[in-house]
Amino acid sequence: LLQLTRKLIEIRQVLMSIDQSDALKLPSIVVIGSQSSGKSSVLEAIVGHEFLPKGDNMVTRRPIELTLVHTPDDGSGGPREYGVFPGLGGQKVTSFPSIQRTLTELNVAVPSSIAVSSDPIHLRIHSPHVPDLTLVDLPGYIQISSMDQPEELKDKISSLCDRYIQEPNIILAVCSADVDLANSAALRASRRVDPMGLRTIGVVTKMDLVLPELGASILKGNRYPLHLGYVGVVSKAPKGPGSDKIRHGGEAPNITGAIMRREEDFFGGENARYFYPPESSRRGLGSGQSLQGKVMVGTDTLRRRLMDVLETSMSGSLNGITNAVQLEMEEANYQFKVQYNDRRITAESYVAETIDALKAKFKEYTTQFTKPHVRAKLRAMLDDKVMDILEQLYWVDKRTEELSKLADDRKLKPEELASYWRYKLDTASSLLTKSGVGRDSTQLVAEGLRSLIDSIAMGEPFTYHPGAAERIVEFSHALLRERLNLTADQVENCIKPYKYEVEIEDREWDSGRARAEQAFDLEVARCESKLAEIKKKVGGAWRMKGLLGYVSDLEQKETERARRRFAAVNNSETSDSTDQYEPLDEPHPDSYKYSAAQLADAGKIAALFSDRLAVLKLRQAALKSRRCKMGPEQKAFCPEAFLSVVAEKLAYTSTMFINIELLEQFFYQFPREIDSRILYNLDREEILRFARENPVIRKHLDLQDRKDKLEQVMRSLQSLVNLRQETEPRSSRN
Ligand code: GDP
Repeated sequence: LLQLTRKLIEIRQVLMSIDQSDALKLPSIVVIGSQSSGKSSVLEAIVGHEFLPKGDNMVTRRPIELTLVHTPDDGSGGPREYGVFPGLGGQKVTSFPSIQRTLTELNVAVPSSIAVSSDPIHLRIHSPHVPDLTLVDLPGYIQISSMDQPEELKDKISSLCDRYIQEPNIILAVCSADVDLANSAALRASRRVDPMGLRTIGVVTKMDLVLPELGASILKGNRYPLHLGYVGVVSKAPKGPGSDKIRHGGEAPNITGAIMRREEDFFGGENARYFYPPESSRRGLGSGQSLQGKVMVGTDTLRRRLMDVLETSMSGSLNGITNAVQLEMEEANYQFKVQYNDRRITAESYVAETIDALKAKFKEYTTQFTKPHVRAKLRAMLDDKVMDILEQLYWVDKRTEELSKLADDRKLKPEELASYWRYKLDTASSLLTKSGVGRDSTQLVAEGLRSLIDSIAMGEPFTYHPGAAERIVEFSHALLRERLNLTADQVENCIKPYKYEVEIEDREWDSGRARAEQAFDLEVARCESKLAEIKKKVGGAWRMKGLLGYVSDLEQKETERARRRFAAVNNSETSDSTDQYEPLDEPHPDSYKYSAAQLADAGKIAALFSDRLAVLKLRQAALKSRRCKMGPEQKAFCPEAFLSVVAEKLAYTSTMFINIELLEQFFYQFPREIDSRILYNLDREEILRFARENPVIRKHLDLQDRKDKLEQVMRSLQSLVNLRQETEPRSSRN
């Protein structure tokens, strides 16, 4: 015994998991029949359980592709009989009423506008009582179209059935004994695709409803001969205490026994002479043999007959399928060679590589957070603060000019300088040291880390892994939040001494002064270019001069309005400061492109820039003066140099503590969090899902999987072919 059917069913399962073309379809037994012909009863008799949707108006709306798997009781105490819906997660459903409920739900879920869907339901039933068979239950043919079963539905069902009754499938044509075979929709459909009746088995149901003599003559099949013959059955399960038990759950009793007894009653005893004539011995029912003219009865006979026919059909398909799989496999091997150079990957290796790359990228980026880098960033932030303070305390103060003159007085000693200037310096220093340096500097660095992580999480390959990216962002933010307050407090605490006293060495003074000088050079250049722009827009130096004269006469109030505009322009990075003035529709006769009001505004802004420039130049000169070069004791004369030194000290101290409290902690924790929250947190299934999120990897894995499965199937097929060749000479096959 080759058990071809069983082995090919296993092969089919493998093929189905890699989405197979029709070329690789193996034969199934397709069950067709009119509504109420007894189709469901026959299927249930074969399976031995009630499991198909029942009830008023309950017609099959989707094909049910039913695979019966003969599973010998292994004595393990596990469920002996169970169903599996591969499309619904594949768990074992151990009660037949549950299977029936699920099928009913799937059936009802087909919208009534569609009525019949061609999308099949896959169901596997494992049992020690079923043979290995693949059957397809199809919607019953409608005999008479009515209000709720219109003509259109009739056609839909017909064309659905037509798709399934093609070769190499075997047609199980269910006909009721009490209806003239000439009216059997099943036989009519079968004859369209199998006119010689070579792959059609007739099942005549409800044999109990006709006289045995008539029944037996139908089964002889003289009117519509079928090569595979007719089998007569009485498959209606008698209602009894068993049906109540089914409704209450538990292991539903097998109905096979009851049906067999019923069939025994009908086909045996008195009637036996019609159904078991002495010349037709049951020993003659060999596979593949023409049974035309012989009489076969009983569900058990039907079951064996189906096994034989399917086995024979499978055997006939073996070579074709082997060839088809061979071609598919060669194609898959070729593609794998060409596209991937035979390089194998696993989901695990992809995850590991991705994590390694993530860590490497992170490490590479952390070089942006060395102490000099961080200090430079903090310096820039503090320099901005210094400029703000200088503007607020010195540049808008009319007496600043006075301070510059005092600096030129060589005889004046620092301690003789008016206390006004010494207090001013103290105020400036406080403003800087008490401006919340701890929080601001920590936040600046934390923000830098955040945007670094965000950019990693948004880059390749995490564009494919939004879930993982989100997790990375989440835990890194949590890490930062956790360290932020602590670090800010620590930094604030460490810069505390500077709030009271800043000691400065000569060397520090010199470099502070040089930096301040640089900053002023830049600021002067910036103001000059802004002014030049305005000049260009209003039409040259001469007009500019006129404008400035005009503006100086304007009232203070208007100037204030302009000052606000000035602040806006001054702070804007781009150089389109005057583009906000809309040109007039009509060009003004005297070549000014702007209205009088706009020009007044521009003039006022220009005036403010001029004032700013004047004060900046004054201070620039002071910074370069002999006095400022003398040393830190001159600080009240040179607040710019002094504040620059303070800024440097603050930046240095902040950097040190941010490095210890925030950066080192983060750099240590981050890679470990990746491991614990992503790498070690994924189970086998999640790893696979993660890898498949990347389309490049998914394609690679799919092809690899396809190639592997085809090779596996090919090996199985090859061994079946070999086995058949060995047994061939001894068997009496035709
Ligand atoms: P389907 O619509 O083709 O699936 O037909 P069913 O299996 O639901 O059967 C239709 C009706 O015929 C039901 O009432 C069954 O109980 C009844 N029936 C099915 N098989 C037999 C049989 O062998 N003998 C008798 N007397 N009734 C049957």
